[in-house]
Amino acid sequence: MEEIPTALRDKSKQSKGKNKWSKRKNISPDKIVIWLIVGLLTVFVVSTIVRLVENNGSNSSVVVRETENNPPSPPKIDISENNNQLPEPPREIVDNILGHLAYEEAPLEELRPITADGRIKLRAKAAEKYNQMVADARSQGIILVAISGFRAVSEQEYLFFEVKEQRNQIASQRAEVSAPPGYSEHHTGYAVDIGDGNNPDSNLQESFENTPAYDWLDRNAPRYSFELSFPRDNVQGISYEPWHWRFVGDSHSLKTFYKARELQSNPLD
Ligand SMILES: [Zn+2]
Repeated sequence: MEEIPTALRDKSKQSKGKNKWSKRKNISPDKIVIWLIVGLLTVFVVSTIVRLVENNGSNSSVVVRETENNPPSPPKIDISENNNQLPEPPREIVDNILGHLAYEEAPLEELRPITADGRIKLRAKAAEKYNQMVADARSQGIILVAISGFRAVSEQEYLFFEVKEQRNQIASQRAEVSAPPGYSEHHTGYAVDIGDGNNPDSNLQESFENTPAYDWLDRNAPRYSFELSFPRDNVQGISYEPWHWRFVGDSHSLKTFYKARELQSNPLD
């Protein structure tokens, strides 16, 4: 075997090493560039995904915050659901028909006569005050005549519907001068229609306001706790009725008329 000189051997070793090195050196730059590109792309893709996820999260939290802070601005479905859950409408609307308010019928045992024949009645306290008022008026030459007092719902049924047909009136026309059944102050036993015994032609007419009886009532009725129910331009929109007076002289009558009155202003305007 031919012996290779040491220098050559070393040289060949060096060249072998050089080859190895150069091989690594030749491949690595390409790979580094590729890895750099891949790395940058990965970082870009990952950061983009992270940003998208963060945006989604922050958007939904904004929606939640808006919903919590501003109840009127959440989706309409929520509002309608809430409304459905409410037992009553948001605004107080008084039970009424064409401006007439609902009233309960007075118990018959609480009624007392205010006429000699006993046909016309009011609740005990109202009857007592009315009779006193009539007596005092008479002593001053004024004849107050009771035309109508307590009325059952069934009587009002006739007065509203039968008379409406007889007079060829539509419901709203009839309601201007008569309450629908269940909606008359006469059901309470506190209301009375009063005429002038010396001027019967003015009974239940606007002209009653020109009689001495009306003049006397206008000046004295509050002493007996009677007041006009439907003065001109009343908030209920009922025709002026100078003959129709109601008793407001105890807690029950006060509640009966004024509890409803306070609530009626908006819907009946
Ligand atoms: Zn009346």
